[in-house]
Amino acid sequence: MDGSLQERGSPTHWAAQECAARGQGGARVSRREFLGAAAGAALLGPGLSSWRRADPYVLVLGVAQDGGMPQTGCYAPRCDRARERDQPRYVSSLAIVEPDAGRYYLVDASPDLRQQMDLIDDPGFRARARERRPFDGIFLTHAHMGHYLGLAHLGREGLGIAPTPCYCSPEMAGFLASNGPWNLLVDEGRLDLRPVEFDRWYEIDDSLSAVATPIPHRPEFSDTVGWTFRGPGRSLLYLPDIDSWEAWDRDVAEIVRGVDVALLDGSFYSPGEVPGRNIEDIPHPMVPHTMDLLREVARDETEVLFIHLNNTNPALDEGSAEAREIASLGFAVATEGQRFGL
Ligand SMILES: [Zn+2]
Ligand SMILES: [Zn+2]
Repeated sequence: MDGSLQERGSPTHWAAQECAARGQGGARVSRREFLGAAAGAALLGPGLSSWRRADPYVLVLGVAQDGGMPQTGCYAPRCDRARERDQPRYVSSLAIVEPDAGRYYLVDASPDLRQQMDLIDDPGFRARARERRPFDGIFLTHAHMGHYLGLAHLGREGLGIAPTPCYCSPEMAGFLASNGPWNLLVDEGRLDLRPVEFDRWYEIDDSLSAVATPIPHRPEFSDTVGWTFRGPGRSLLYLPDIDSWEAWDRDVAEIVRGVDVALLDGSFYSPGEVPGRNIEDIPHPMVPHTMDLLREVARDETEVLFIHLNNTNPALDEGSAEAREIASLGFAVATEGQRFGL
């Protein structure tokens, strides 16, 4: 599918510049079995009929909102089930894998990175990790806890990575470079900051291009971008956080129509979900509203999935009324282990 966030100009070379309910009522499913089953189901899923194992693909490493699931101090039934069954949902993050070239990218570095890296099962990845250079690049969306705290695992107290390009907005780059402990990663040369111009396509390597789009989202520490990735065959939009579609200076339907797969902010299903918290302090579009806006696009053109689900979102429960509603309208909820050919 052609068309995108903007016309693709000449690419720039960087050188030049649980589902808690899963297994419900049945035998206890181990975390490994659970994640394996999710990945297996995804491999047989739609949109992959022409995908060859050697082609680049996006691998979903996590689908939960920044706090993860179970969330710290959450003893509500959904979090308790995830805890009891050892079926956590990891915080939103992706890997981009290029099996032929042996290249690996990380999209957002979540606090769950320690477990999430184990989901990258391409044979070459562990060899790269042993060499302390697991990723050819790291793409960051913004400076809220779910999206960059995992960088700490890559620093001196953890893996201690070799110099790795880190693509983000200029403001995010400035935040990392001027605030501890992140500036140590920069000063030690582990993170090679590559601030990007908005809406400009960058040729990351010979089979991956990326563009960052500015997104309206609580700017406490940094601004926010969504990333669109394009491989040899397909494109994917990753947009885990937005305050509202109406606050955006873009037409979400038009943007989503321009990609083959869209992973969108699905934080909340309804405003009453978070007891004791004012939903206006944590603004996000409600899933049904997003589906209203994108109903035709999802039916006719683009695979639209929700990601970044808060632990209160009943769509995390497979078989819930909300999950069924999402499926009946032609949308889906992303799952750890799911793959999308690029
Ligand atoms: Zn977030
Ligand atoms: Zn955020």
